[in-house]
This record gives sequence, C-alpha cells and structure tokens, in this order.
Amino acid sequence: MGKILIIGAGGVGTVVAHKAAQNPAVFTEIMLASRTKAKCDAIAAAVGGNRIKTAQVDADNVGELVELMNSFKPDLVINVALPYQDLTIMDACLECGVNYLDTANYEPRDEAKFEYKWQWAYRDKFEKAGLTAILGCGFDPGVTSVFTAYAAKHHFDEMHYLDIVDCNAGDHGKAFATNFNPEINIREVTQKGRYWENGKWVTTEPHEIHKPLTYPCIGPKESYVIYHEELESLVKNYPTLKRARFWMTFGQEYLTHLRVIQNIGMARIDPILYNGVEIVPIQFLKAVLPDPGELGENYTGETSIGCRIRGIKDGKERTYYIYNNCSHQAAYRETGAQGVSYTTGVPATVGAMMFMQGLWKKQGVFNVEEFDPDPFLSELAKQGLPWTELFDVDLEV
Ligand code: NDP
Repeated sequence: MGKILIIGAGGVGTVVAHKAAQNPAVFTEIMLASRTKAKCDAIAAAVGGNRIKTAQVDADNVGELVELMNSFKPDLVINVALPYQDLTIMDACLECGVNYLDTANYEPRDEAKFEYKWQWAYRDKFEKAGLTAILGCGFDPGVTSVFTAYAAKHHFDEMHYLDIVDCNAGDHGKAFATNFNPEINIREVTQKGRYWENGKWVTTEPHEIHKPLTYPCIGPKESYVIYHEELESLVKNYPTLKRARFWMTFGQEYLTHLRVIQNIGMARIDPILYNGVEIVPIQFLKAVLPDPGELGENYTGETSIGCRIRGIKDGKERTYYIYNNCSHQAAYRETGAQGVSYTTGVPATVGAMMFMQGLWKKQGVFNVEEFDPDPFLSELAKQGLPWTELFDVDLEV
C-alpha cells in the first residue's frame, strides 16, 4: 500500500519497526533512520528478512531530512525521535510533500513546556499542501484520546468529567530508571500539575493532588494529578467537559529519587560550564541512567491505562471506564522492548495503517480524536493491545 520512513531508533522506534514489518500488505517498504545508524541496523537485523532499510539522519537538520525524503520518497513519516525534532520534520515533510505522524508534541529544548500551539500553527500549510499531519498517536496521548472519541461517539450525549488514569505496575529491578527517554520523562513529571475545571486551567504544585486508585488486575496504586498534553486538545474538542484531569502512578522510591535529582540540580535544562565545557545537567543525567530500551529483559508486571468518564446518555447519568492492560514480558517477547515502548509504538503503527488505508486521511494538522475511532480501536486490538469497557462502575475520582 505504501512506504514509510520511521525516524528515531529508540524503544518506541524498535516497536514501530517490528509492528510495521509484521504488516507487509500495508507497509510495502520501510526505512528506519536515526542519529546513530548502528542502532537502526541492530533493529533491522532483529526484525530480519531484509524488511527494513536503514539510514543516518540528523533530524534537527531540515536539509538532511529533505535529502533523505527525496531519495526514499515515503508516503508517511512516523516521527518517534524526540519532541524537539517535531518542527524540523514537519518542515521537511512540507518541502517534500510527505504526510506526518508523531507521538509527542513539540517542546523547545530550553523551556520544559509542551503545548500544541507550535504544531497547530502548521494547519494552513498542511491543508494547502494537501497533506495530513496526525499528532499524538502513542498511548497517552493517542489511545486515551481515541478512547475519549469512542466514548463520545457511542456512549454519551454529553461528557462532563474525564479522568485519564495511567498506571505502570511493572518492576524492572533498578533503583531508579525512566520508562522512556529520561530527559523528556523527567521534564514531564517534575512540572507543576494542571487540570481543566469549569472553563479554565487550575495549576497545582507538582504531585500535590493524589489518592489511591484501583486498577484492573493490579489493585490500588497511589496516583498523582499531573499535566499531560492530550488534555489541551481534548477540552477544545469536547467543550461539554466540566473537568478533565490526568493521573499517573508513582512509587515512593521513584518520587524520592526524583526529589533528590531536582534538589541537587541534576534536572536543570540550562547549560552549565564544567571543566570549560558546556553541559546540560539533565542530558548528562540521561547518559548515566539505565537506557529505557534495555529494561525489557527483566521487566515484570503490567501497565494499565484508560479513561474514566462521567456524563449523560438518554437523560440519565452514566459512568464508563475503558482501558488496556499490557504485560511488559509479553511486549519484550514479541519485540525486545518493554511495555511502555510497546504501548506507544503499536498505536503509532496502527495510526499509520489508518492513514495508508485512507481511513484517517484529511488535509491539515489533526489530533487523533478528530478521526473516526472505530477502525483504529478494532485494529489496535488485533495488533496486540486489546481493550475492555466497564459501564456504571464506581470511578473513584
Ligand atoms: P529514546 O530516547 O529511546 O529514542 C529516541 C531516538 O531518537 C533515539 O534513537 C535517538 O537517537 C533519536 N534521536 C534523537 N535526536 C535525534 C536527532 N536529532 N536526529 C535523529 N535521531 C534522533 O526515546 P523513546 O523511544 O522512549 O521515545 C520516542 C518518542 O516517543 C519521544 O518523543 C517520546 O516523548 C515519545 N513517547 C510517547 C508516548 C505516548 O504514549 N504518546 C509514551 C512514551 C514515549 P540516538 O539513539 O542516537 O540517541
């Protein structure tokens, strides 16, 4: 059906490469490009069968991206590098007439702040070029937004309260490690909390609001309200929401490490001079922390991520909970990557399938909830992430 260029050979890129290779009828040719070509070659070798071509590219450099896209001529780029590269990759896509999909919104390097405004500003350009850009197609953002769209389409006349709940009950055996890129992860979880209530954003201190929530097949876990990027587009696209929040579980050990990292200045994102060389403390920290891509082998337990929604259907109040549980071990057996990379890479691949099959194809820049959720969720279950719905249950939130 078409050619894809995957950019980024980390944990998520590993899963996208495996999943895309498993679907040759949709993805006829696959290229994996990243900063370090050796990582692409290792992933291509693990997939086998000469299914994946590889290339070196610096995705901060539009010229290099344009050259690569013009030589391979992909139909779609799947951007699973870092959020810093979103805009350069979108620029190159526009220059080469290539469609675009990512899993995380743009962040400037010198400001720990994620917002869609930079990418939404590309709407007209993509529309005029007749190209599609699909934003935020991982699990959260991604599946959580599609779950919300599915709830709105099938189960509610009006949604009033949305609580996205993200639990990682896995154990990787390390004192401290992050489940995806440490720099991006630490920037995200050390920010102030933020949620939507009665038409405006409410800001909290980091991890100020917390309570135990019960996750299916896992049990109660302390969960913390943090700001997460899908809230920004969901409250715009579902204006009946009176409140929208995002909860994530953290263990005490993880939070203690995080506090120490912050207190001693290792989470700083501004450059400092060390022995005459400029270094950014959080980037140095990334270099000494465990590589999230290497956690898989000894990772046990599972993740559970879903949406808890309260609203009105046929004049009556209804509660609804839709979720997926994913086993780290099963993810590792299939792709060599742990559950957090798996739950991001599989939806990115399914989003790409939707585009290739013409089911998610419109001109402009869109968040995933702006497409039909039905074919996506049906394919998601077939590709390894089945989901469950519960009605009229206690949502605890
Ligand atoms: P990793 O750090 O494991 O991988 C990132 C990859 O991008 C690395 O291979 C890295 O290269 C490459 N890269 C970085 N900078 C450049 C550059 N300038 N040019 C080319 N390649 C580059 O991250 P993850 O795989 O864990 O995460 C990938 C993305 O997925 C991130 O944007 C993350 O925010 C997002 N994500 C989204 C989630 C969701 O649910 N929506 C959940 C988890 C992650 P090198 O190997 O040389 O360092």
